[in-house]
Amino acid sequence: MALLLWDQHTCLPLQAGAEVDPLARYQRRGGALLSVNAGYSPHGFDDTVALLHHFRGAVQAHPGLELAATAEDVETIAGVDRTAVVFDLEDSRPVDDDLDNLAVLAELGVRTLLPTYNHANRAGSGCLDTQDGGLTSWGRSIVAELNNVGIVPDGSHCSARTGLGMCEVSTGPVIYSHSCMRSVWDHPRNITDEQARACAATGGVIGITGVGIFLGPNTPTLEAMTRHLEYAVDLVGIDHVGISSDYSFDYADFVEEFTRNPHLFDDSYTRWGTIQWMPPETLLMLADHLGRRGWRTDDIAAVLGRNFLRVAERAWRN
Ligand SMILES: [Zn+2]
Repeated sequence: MALLLWDQHTCLPLQAGAEVDPLARYQRRGGALLSVNAGYSPHGFDDTVALLHHFRGAVQAHPGLELAATAEDVETIAGVDRTAVVFDLEDSRPVDDDLDNLAVLAELGVRTLLPTYNHANRAGSGCLDTQDGGLTSWGRSIVAELNNVGIVPDGSHCSARTGLGMCEVSTGPVIYSHSCMRSVWDHPRNITDEQARACAATGGVIGITGVGIFLGPNTPTLEAMTRHLEYAVDLVGIDHVGISSDYSFDYADFVEEFTRNPHLFDDSYTRWGTIQWMPPETLLMLADHLGRRGWRTDDIAAVLGRNFLRVAERAWRN
């Protein structure tokens, strides 16, 4: 049986006019769900809405891609080997300090949001901050409204205490959309065992990501990804681990973003040289790789897509 592949975070250029055609590289038997980033901390609400309108129109016009609103949609689309698309946001800046905007973003297909991108904002602290003040009262209000409108709270890029605070207050599952395990590779973007356990306790899923500098010393290989997957499965169980490529389809665009906003990153991003990502073509070989390592088909299905699908069934509205 062909298995669903769920990539919980992938990145196109954040410009109205960006091509969505590269997403067709995920075309496969068993289908796929792609969560495409539609904005982060430099983007306000209007920028984000404009990008979402552009991406939605372009996906609808593409013969190989289809917008999903519900978990049922994902199953229908993937059931005929097609590729479903939803959106995610990094940072709460796109909310423009107005909780009512979250319902609008949900309506436009946003299904996960992380409140704090690397550095502190009104909602909480980021993973690159030296002081960790945790989730603020504004951050708690954001989580409550995310729960309310069916957007899944996401702890990636947040500080450890901010992530733990989100798990405490959320009434639904909290995920780490694209985070590796700090016990396997010590990087500030990776999460502690405590964060992983708290996420699992909410019914959430940790998306082990294909970025070289988070997997190890800039090694985006299936072997490195498997080390993180197997550690996470041993720690929190097979039902709470998933995958996310974090793949940047346009490298020049990423470098431009990096150059435009250097204050958002630090030496932990640059010390290993040019960041290497796992391309979709490699990620698509993960199931075979795990099979050769002796994983049971049922366990492969859970990590490849079924766990994030379960979160969507529980948390998305519409
Ligand atoms: Zn990210």
